[in-house]
Amino acid sequence: MYDVTAVGELLIDFTPAGLSGQGQPLFEQNPGGAPANVLAALSRLGRRTAFIGKVGQDFFGDYLAGVLAQAQIACDGLLRDPSCRTTLAFVHLDPNGDRSFSFYRNPGADLMLRPEEIPEATVRDCRIFHFGSVSMTGDPARGATRHALELARRAGRLVSYDPNLRLPLWSSPEDARQVILAVLDRVDVLKISEEELTFLTGLTDLEQGARWFFDRAPLQLLLITRGAKGAYGATRRAQASHPAFDVQTIDTTGAGDAFTGAVLHRLLLRGKDPGRLTAEELESDLAYANAAGSLATTRTGAIPALPTEREIQNCLTRTRTLT
Ligand code: ADP
Repeated sequence: MYDVTAVGELLIDFTPAGLSGQGQPLFEQNPGGAPANVLAALSRLGRRTAFIGKVGQDFFGDYLAGVLAQAQIACDGLLRDPSCRTTLAFVHLDPNGDRSFSFYRNPGADLMLRPEEIPEATVRDCRIFHFGSVSMTGDPARGATRHALELARRAGRLVSYDPNLRLPLWSSPEDARQVILAVLDRVDVLKISEEELTFLTGLTDLEQGARWFFDRAPLQLLLITRGAKGAYGATRRAQASHPAFDVQTIDTTGAGDAFTGAVLHRLLLRGKDPGRLTAEELESDLAYANAAGSLATTRTGAIPALPTEREIQNCLTRTRTLT
């Protein structure tokens, strides 16, 4: 039995790495893809995890398979496409460490996952099933993601969803919004960023945003990450906020995934329905997940930047919060 199984994209993030002797930009090869990052965050915290997705039969695919194995993520569900290359994403950082992406995916191997390729036992034999929306930007991966979601739902698994909006990968913003919202009726835990709240609901107020989702979907827990402002969480009965930590941020890549992995770890520890969390429990889980997110911004890349339990505990006890 796995603690968490995730389906989705696995790709290369080329992150900025200074200038060459000739003054040309250098990029560092890092493993990327939000669902795999979330699993890596969980594995670092001692959880049993499994990944389902597709990479190319190329050098980058070999590298990514090796990274998953090294992160102790079960990768029986990692398939290789013989004709499509592994997807590449070049990350651009602005002076605040915030990032944007250029994707090389026309199409990429991650989009080639087919519904019949989903290993059913890996989806059924887990405590939490996690997915995102990048694997729903086109077929056949969209159908494969929905099929896995359906299997998880039918097996009675807790379902966690981080849409992780990447607009350049969609044919239009309307298509993105419609496809992202269409699966909400099967989700228990939804994690979005403040920007995604506004994109999906048109609202900026967090409480109004929470009401918008709870009115439309059978959600148990909504989490909204707010960058350096920390995070907000709500169930139907309780809500809480917690600030982020005052760390030396150099690259925010993977911060949201570190946050999500940390939240799922805490939900597994508690072993109760997320919808039954008290405001105090929610606040404590947000503090823990913010510590994980904040620490992830202190190193470059996503998977290499994920913190250990000891680092999170140190941050919680020794680092000031940003207010
Ligand atoms: P996403 O990567 O999904 O957009 P955020 O950027 O909101 O998510 O970051 C997730 C979490 O990481 C935040 O809730 C916060 O705890 C932490 N974090 C992000 N940026 C910073 C920062 N500049 N300083 C401290 N913590 C940060």
